Amino acid sequence: MGLFRLFILAVIGYCAYALWRKYQQHQRLQQRPTTQVTDTVRCAYCNTHSPKQTAVYANGKWYCNEQHQKLSQQ
Ligand SMILES: [Zn+2]
Repeated sequence: MGLFRLFILAVIGYCAYALWRKYQQHQRLQQRPTTQVTDTVRCAYCNTHSPKQTAVYANGKWYCNEQHQKLSQQ
């Protein structure tokens, strides 16, 4: 009887582990697209998509660098 209980516990443990792995994969797949969309902006001068951290914001528009921001004002 002891061996049968051990077997049942092993099956339950494996099921819990498989469910946890599936949940982790699901979470990772859901996070990937949202971070890409929010972190990139389109340059108003050359239409290049660049990260928001390195982009320049001026006059209601995004630019990939300061040079393109100055060139668009001329
Ligand atoms: Zn640009």
